[in-house]
Amino acid sequence: MEYDLIRKFQMECPICDEIHEIEMRTRIATTIIKGEEVKYKETYYFCSNCDEDENEFVNGKMQNENLMNARNAFRESHDLLTSNEIVAIRESYGLSQVDFARLLGWGEATISRYESKAIQDEAYDNILRIVKENPLAAYEYLQKNCDKFTAQKKFEIKDKIMENLDSFGREYLKRQALESEYVNYQDPCEANGNKNLDIDKLENIVSYFAEKIENLYKVKLMKMLWYADSLSFKTSHCSMTGLVYCHEPMGALPIGHYKIVGLENIKMQEEEGYEYTKYHFLPNNKLDKLCLSKDEIKILNRVINKFKSFSSADIVKYMHAETAYTETKDGEVIPFSLASEIRDF
Ligand SMILES: [Zn+2]
Repeated sequence: MEYDLIRKFQMECPICDEIHEIEMRTRIATTIIKGEEVKYKETYYFCSNCDEDENEFVNGKMQNENLMNARNAFRESHDLLTSNEIVAIRESYGLSQVDFARLLGWGEATISRYESKAIQDEAYDNILRIVKENPLAAYEYLQKNCDKFTAQKKFEIKDKIMENLDSFGREYLKRQALESEYVNYQDPCEANGNKNLDIDKLENIVSYFAEKIENLYKVKLMKMLWYADSLSFKTSHCSMTGLVYCHEPMGALPIGHYKIVGLENIKMQEEEGYEYTKYHFLPNNKLDKLCLSKDEIKILNRVINKFKSFSSADIVKYMHAETAYTETKDGEVIPFSLASEIRDF
């Protein structure tokens, strides 16, 4: 059985009733949750003094953490918020477990259960996600359930909601602005490379490119995004970002590119150029890098290696020779069937 050793230390072993060296270990364990097999990280103590049948034990805290890990593994595989994520949403509104449940019009113990033991249903999960992203939704709940709070408490909650609207509400609204440009592309199709717009992925890719390329400006970035999506489509029949690109004089340009540049999580610095403002992209260390898979990173690295020393003019010229460009007209959407005919590199 495979395991990782965390540490060794002396303690009174409850199995053999002696003080001796005990190992704290972790391993990948399996359990059944809601009829499904779930793999999770389990921590336990190991006594090397005893026979092989009974040489492991856990304390109460470990047992709770193991259970929590198993439930969170189930949640992750079902795309449900983890208990920590639920805590973070509640804390972003500065609420106790009971007050957060009251705000949403749920039973008073509901949030406490979701943060500790129970796995939330999808309907509850959706509401939590909406409140996470959109403080205006939280405000609507406050109006609906205001009779559950004192005037003072209601005032405090409203204050916090307004504060959130100012900060992460801005992010939500900017995402909405970009999404509104993609209302005609809400199903996988040839224009979006069989993928719906994925803003998290887009933000991560921009940050990854900016991390590897010091002087990354808008024209080059837009071309590199197109090459990454095209290469992904060529290898797996699916693009990465779900962006839809048009044939423009400077090569492929995604629909809503002004709004991409304005996203809260895209770090960009405006610099005064000779004739016009230049957009200089920088890495955003706050993003969750796990959003990119190994295969995706491989594709991104190929694009980086090919174009890192290209100037904006070089990459525009290079793109102009692609079938995807020569076979489409000004302003037309470039279909991914043509995009996948990019020259090998
Ligand atoms: Zn022992």
